[in-house]
Amino acid sequence: MSAETEYLKALYQEYLKLNPCSKQLYEEACKVIKGGNTRAVLMYLPYPAYIERGEGSRIWDVDGNERIDFFYNATVLILGHNHPKVLEAIKQQLACGTALGGPTESEIELAEELVERLPSAEMVRFTPSGTEAVHQALRLARSYTGKDKIAKFEGAYHGSWDAVDISIFPSLEEAGPPLSPYGVPFNEGVPKKVLDNTIVMPYNNAEAVEKIVKKHKDELAAVIIEPVQRGYLPKEGFLETVREITERYGILLVFDEIISFRVSPGGAQELFKVTPDITTLGKIIGGGFPVGAYCASEEIMEPFMFVLPDALRTPLKFSGTFNAFPITMAAGLATLKELTPKVYERMNRLAQDMRNGLGKMLGDLKIEAHVEAIGSMFHIWWTKEEVVDYRSLKTADPRLDTYFELDSINRGVYYRGHPNVSAVTTKEDVKKALEIAEQSFTALRPVVREISPQLIAK
Ligand code: PMP
Repeated sequence: MSAETEYLKALYQEYLKLNPCSKQLYEEACKVIKGGNTRAVLMYLPYPAYIERGEGSRIWDVDGNERIDFFYNATVLILGHNHPKVLEAIKQQLACGTALGGPTESEIELAEELVERLPSAEMVRFTPSGTEAVHQALRLARSYTGKDKIAKFEGAYHGSWDAVDISIFPSLEEAGPPLSPYGVPFNEGVPKKVLDNTIVMPYNNAEAVEKIVKKHKDELAAVIIEPVQRGYLPKEGFLETVREITERYGILLVFDEIISFRVSPGGAQELFKVTPDITTLGKIIGGGFPVGAYCASEEIMEPFMFVLPDALRTPLKFSGTFNAFPITMAAGLATLKELTPKVYERMNRLAQDMRNGLGKMLGDLKIEAHVEAIGSMFHIWWTKEEVVDYRSLKTADPRLDTYFELDSINRGVYYRGHPNVSAVTTKEDVKKALEIAEQSFTALRPVVREISPQLIAK
């Protein structure tokens, strides 16, 4: 039997033993929910563990397994599960009602907090998800510039809607030349015509960006970028160059900070000292509830000004039954109020501890993978190459991610992409997670040697 087959047999056997109730639930789910689950990111083989509850830095599944959480609902729960301050804010709001059908003070307070923190924000508008925030932000850019095209970066995710559902994980056969990638729809059902309006660029390559933007300058409304794309860092000067080029050609720069807002009190734009024209937000600003927002200067946001008495005459009309949902607003504000500079410092230190610990263990085992950390997030890339863009990310072995994550779940640590620490992650959590990672890496090493031998140092 190959090392991989033997490893997987033991891995699945252990998982099945630990998670019988989740299996039952998954089978029930499959009868009424196509695919058994509505979130692709939560699916893994043989079936996902169904979570029953969370508290602080821990989650418990329906089989009673306790795990240290390093997923926190895809970076949302920056204060961990059930934070008392957030619970108190929700309770107070709940006592007044849920969806009240009129504006509430809570949305003003959260908007004020965002304006105070974000260099690019004078005005804010809320949506129920990050996807909708990006959708509206790009329509705003088109309205403001009178142009139709947008440019995004290969490998970047900005939500699941047509204009940006392009070149998220393209195969290398379809992706085209690295310096002028083709647009490849991520999903069937994305109209081919959408490709005419979405230009794809390589992340971290200022020269290529300059060329592509210059070529399309008269049609481009916006360049949208995750300042920290999927966890890999912008090269020194890259964001500054993108800012300079977009400014030069009158193209709006949109920072998608739906994840990266958590890297400092004022997001990646504060950390890297580059101010975009529009910022999209989500995740942490809803305190655990569905949310999105976009911010810009008063001038850019002008098309939203209601023309009274007919409010629907405004140039940009967006409504949404759950925009600025009061419970979300209250939970989001309570969350941001807890996030003082000291809290960021502490979280970021713990993420560095994870990075250093994981990196050292891999080094000791002579496995040549890369471990990175930024803010309170850290990543393992199963490649010898430095990961700076989508093409270098493609040199990583995705099987090793999958195996490491399932092995960690068996041993009591929950990672599912975007590993991150929260304000309630403790030093003990980090110590325990590192001990467990050492066991996982040791078990995985024969598989690495067999399926990705280039990662074993000579
Ligand atoms: N942009 C980025 C950078 C994201 O990470 C996500 C979600 N993972 C989105 C947009 C979409 O946000 P949502 O899932 O809230 O629609």
